[in-house]
Amino acid sequence: MKCDFHMHTIFSDGKVWPTTRVDEAWRTGLDAIAITDHVESQHHKGDVSTNRNRSFEIAEPQGRLFDVLVIRGAEITKKLPPGHLNAIFLTDANPVEKPDFRQAIKAAIDQKAFVFWNHPSHEHPQKKSEWFPEHTELYEKGWMHGIEVVNGMTYYPEAHAWCLEKKLTMMCNSDIHEPLTLYGEGKPGDHRPMTLVLVKEKTPEALKEALFARRTLVYMGNMLIGEEPYLRPIYEASVSPVRSGLTLKGKDRALLQIRNRSEISFELEAVGEPAEVSAPKSLTLHRERVSLCEVRAKAPGQTGTKKLSLPYVVKNLLIAPGKGLPVNVEFEAAFTP
Ligand SMILES: [Zn+2]
Ligand SMILES: [Zn+2]
Repeated sequence: MKCDFHMHTIFSDGKVWPTTRVDEAWRTGLDAIAITDHVESQHHKGDVSTNRNRSFEIAEPQGRLFDVLVIRGAEITKKLPPGHLNAIFLTDANPVEKPDFRQAIKAAIDQKAFVFWNHPSHEHPQKKSEWFPEHTELYEKGWMHGIEVVNGMTYYPEAHAWCLEKKLTMMCNSDIHEPLTLYGEGKPGDHRPMTLVLVKEKTPEALKEALFARRTLVYMGNMLIGEEPYLRPIYEASVSPVRSGLTLKGKDRALLQIRNRSEISFELEAVGEPAEVSAPKSLTLHRERVSLCEVRAKAPGQTGTKKLSLPYVVKNLLIAPGKGLPVNVEFEAAFTP
């Protein structure tokens, strides 16, 4: 499911009515959203209700109409540490409004909410992501289940590393306050940041199960971030050769055609080369197209048929900070003099 678990409406400091968030989600192909208004601040309390459940209650029927799951949520907004945390799958957002962060998070945990740390560096005086003793405390109590690895257009490599090391769920959310039309979708292929959740079925229960089980991918721009067991099947299901064999005549160039069915252009970088052939150092497998990979025999006079493998890493499928997914481009080479 394509999801965004962090957004605001006029019931806190956002600029839109709750049903608009559902319309935007439907238009951008999302399956689920959580509206997470700040429990501490109502910028329009002279005009709208201060009941912390109202934004959910207004959006939810619109969600049923458009087949977009709307999850009840709230943003617990405290100064760093621990900073801002979202609680989703709440049953009642009102008891979460507490002056002390421990009491607020406990109220969410008592409702079996899924809790994650938002935009780790936003409130930091040096704008860096820093793990404080308060985070250790929440983590050790089992009160923090995930971290935003991406918020809006910002990627936090430290949060990425913490999620891997501490087995926390990787989240990617817009934290949108404005109407989506003002968000800056420009070039074809641009999309809002989203968390891809690997669910067993499209229900709130299955979504919650998958989040607690850490089956998520971070999808921002042309970058997909996640654990290797989830990224590899996506790459392998997307990429295939048009033909599995290639004839290499003397030192003439030959073109391997590789199809990419996905909507992500994969950026490959060579990490070696077989002894028999030379291949591009970098290779882009363009989204929804067939791309060409130029191969030449290194020495003329080779004969026979061989299975060859070109080792690459996919730079925009990140299995760890700065570490792309290793893949092989495989084909059968028939050498003729
Ligand atoms: Zn925040
Ligand atoms: Zn927010």
